[in-house]
Amino acid sequence: MRRNIVAGNWKMNKTFEEADDLLFSIAEPLQKLDLDTSQVILCPPVLYAEMFTDIALENNFSVGAQNCSNKESGAYTGEISAAMLKSMDIEYCLVGHSERRKYFGEDSKMLAEKVDLLLDNEINPIFCCGEVLEDREANNHFDVVGKQIFEGIFHLNAEELDNVIIAYEPVWAIGTGKTASPAQAQEMHAFIRNLIAKKYNQEVADNMSILYGGSCNAKNAKELFALKDVDGGLIGGASLKAEDFLAIIQSF
Ligand code: PEP
Repeated sequence: MRRNIVAGNWKMNKTFEEADDLLFSIAEPLQKLDLDTSQVILCPPVLYAEMFTDIALENNFSVGAQNCSNKESGAYTGEISAAMLKSMDIEYCLVGHSERRKYFGEDSKMLAEKVDLLLDNEINPIFCCGEVLEDREANNHFDVVGKQIFEGIFHLNAEELDNVIIAYEPVWAIGTGKTASPAQAQEMHAFIRNLIAKKYNQEVADNMSILYGGSCNAKNAKELFALKDVDGGLIGGASLKAEDFLAIIQSF
C-alpha cells in the first residue's frame, strides 16, 4: 500500500554502545511526533536487531535488515536467512543495494531469490535499483533501471508486489553529496511507476511506494518528497545523525 516512508540505512557503522546512543536520540523525539501519514523504518546492523525491535512499536518505527541470504537454510557460513529475520520480528529488508551489487557481486537472479524468500516469510522487501554515472552519461539510465526492476521483482503477481517498496538510488548520488535534481528524480520515479502500470495496471502502480535515495539530507528532503512520484527516502549518511534524520522525517 502506498505511503510516505523514511528508511534509515545505517550500513556497517556504530558499535553496540554507539548504536544504543543513536537509537535513543532518534526514538525518544520520534515518540512525540505525529506520524499519521508517514512511516519510519530503521535498518541497523542486524546484530543489534533485538535492541531495536524491543522498543519499535511504542516509539513509532519499524525495523528492517540491510540484507538476507538467497538460501533458505543450511551450510552457508556467515549468512542470515529470511526466516531468521522473521523470528527476530524484522518487518523489512533491503534487497539489491548498490553496495551489495558492487562489492558482493549480487546479480538479478540472486536478488529475485531473496525477494521470494522474504515474501515467503512475510517480510517486506525494499528493492533498490539505480544506474551508475556512466549509464546516465550514456543515456542508458532508463534501460538499466528498467532491467533491474524487470529481473528483480516483475516475476511477482500483483498481490505479492503490493508488499514490496522500491528505492530508486542513482549510484552516483550515494554517499557523494551529489543529489539527483528534483527533475531527474521525478522523471525516473514516474518512469518506474509507468513500468508497473504497463506490466500490471494503473491501480497497482498507484499503490507502490517509491523512495528516493542518494545524498538526501535535511536541506533537500522537502523538495524531493514534494515531487508527485516520490514517496519518501532511503537515507544513508544523514540517518546517522539524529537531528538530521528527525528533520528528514518531518519533511513531508
Ligand atoms: C544509501 O546508501 O542507501 C544512501 C542513500 O546513502 P546516502 O544517503 O549516504 O547517499
